Amino acid sequence: MSLRRHATRVGLLAGACCALSLTPAAAQRRTGQATGTPSLIVFITVDQMRSDYFPRFASQLTGGLGRLYKGGAFFSNAHHDHAITETAPGHSVTMSGRFPAHTGIVANIYGVEDRQAPMVGGGGPGASPFRFRGSTLIDWLRDKDPRSRALSVSRKDRGAILPMGRAHQSVFWYASDGRFSTSTYYADTLPTWAQQFNAKKIPQTYAGKWWTLLRPAADYPEPDSVLYEAGGGDVLFPHPFPTDPAQTARILANYPVMDSLTAQFALAGLNGLGIGRGPQTDILAVSFSTTDAVGHKFGPDSRELHDQILRLDKYLGIFIDSLYKIRDSSRVVFALTADHGVAPFPEVRAEREHVPVERADVGPVIRQARARLNAAGADTMAVTIEEGMVSLNHAALERANLKPSDVLAGVMADLKKVTGVARVDLVRDLARADTTRDAVARRWLHMLPADDPAEAVFSLKPYAYYENVDMATHGTPNDYDSHVPVLFYGPWFVPGKYAQPALVADMAPTLAAIAEVVPIERVDGRVRTEAIKKD
Ligand SMILES: [Zn+2]
Repeated sequence: MSLRRHATRVGLLAGACCALSLTPAAAQRRTGQATGTPSLIVFITVDQMRSDYFPRFASQLTGGLGRLYKGGAFFSNAHHDHAITETAPGHSVTMSGRFPAHTGIVANIYGVEDRQAPMVGGGGPGASPFRFRGSTLIDWLRDKDPRSRALSVSRKDRGAILPMGRAHQSVFWYASDGRFSTSTYYADTLPTWAQQFNAKKIPQTYAGKWWTLLRPAADYPEPDSVLYEAGGGDVLFPHPFPTDPAQTARILANYPVMDSLTAQFALAGLNGLGIGRGPQTDILAVSFSTTDAVGHKFGPDSRELHDQILRLDKYLGIFIDSLYKIRDSSRVVFALTADHGVAPFPEVRAEREHVPVERADVGPVIRQARARLNAAGADTMAVTIEEGMVSLNHAALERANLKPSDVLAGVMADLKKVTGVARVDLVRDLARADTTRDAVARRWLHMLPADDPAEAVFSLKPYAYYENVDMATHGTPNDYDSHVPVLFYGPWFVPGKYAQPALVADMAPTLAAIAEVVPIERVDGRVRTEAIKKD
């Protein structure tokens, strides 16, 4: 077992929290503002949605994505600012306003999985936010007004759980049997509205159907037949669903319609729970996961990804129209972002840009390290290399009379020689880097909590992939993985395109300012006052 797995990442909820006094601007807004505070914050996270998808598809976005993009405040140069650009760390930032170094969520494998919190009715691994540290927007709202409530929905457990931090709110995600459920961290049974929604068995009705193009084929400039997609198998439209209803429910996550189902469940929950009616500010957080599934399988340059975005646009349009029928649109604010971006398939990019394919194989480094440990009679797991992080079990090394600093230096030297590896850094040296110019060092600093066991980190060159990855992917500190939309929409915001640098971590404090609450702990982002209407 690695050290890391034993490390307790149990965090503290920001202590005995007492509301700080309102900022002068917020106090001013409280008196005599035109709009008042929102009764509902709708926070949308599109899994793997790169920022450039908005301008790329803008002319065809006639639904919800188009409405938010054209009518909202869009920060076109917004980034996550941490190194491991995966789903769990990204979702830990969205509504906390803090980097993973402070939320404690370092990677997907150290995300939400929790055997002690099984899913209600089964259908997936147990999950809870026990590794999450600190507070999020719902905690700040409830600190001001305990009536504030939140509903968070996603296909993925981590996409539903982490935006809520540790709050015991209504949190649901998709189970492999076609139901939406929760875990025992939140509830022991499902509420009636959720049971009624599940009883409709909507996923099973897609058995035997097809995923077809939404628009005429001529509207898609991307070639459909690209052999690198989907492992060279299911590359052509239309894409069939299985004929078996249970199997269809199990793999619905790979089809655009999963996002429609997620939106429908979110609306059912909004109704069932009666949230967003005011006077307090409630939250509806929805994470749409199919863009990630389609992006991994077919890549960001594919016709399938294009169609997925158009379909999400359509579903989101229906969602917004339906929401505005049951809630006062003048009291609803929308925010939209992504948990990370994505890199093109290296082979697709190599053909397009006439550059070599770079794939990094760290397997031999791991095998060499284990062989050296074995030869010295040490536990071969005393060195862990995963997710770009190197950790050592000092006690195990010292028992075998090995000097940990020598072992680490050996592993780092081997990593530096690997094709596709851009750099290898000692964690203790990162703080001395020029964090303005050196984004990779800064992103690692923002990644690792002070008590993290990682002692060295390594980063891939831009566009390099790991050797054994056969799908399009993300997860590096490079800009294509970190560059995501940051968008606000509603009567509080000045519509327009904002080119100045922004962070996903800015979103929670900005929404807090609109709701006239203040974070109950220090956050890493800041209020984007330039996008907020002055009273
Ligand atoms: Zn992904």
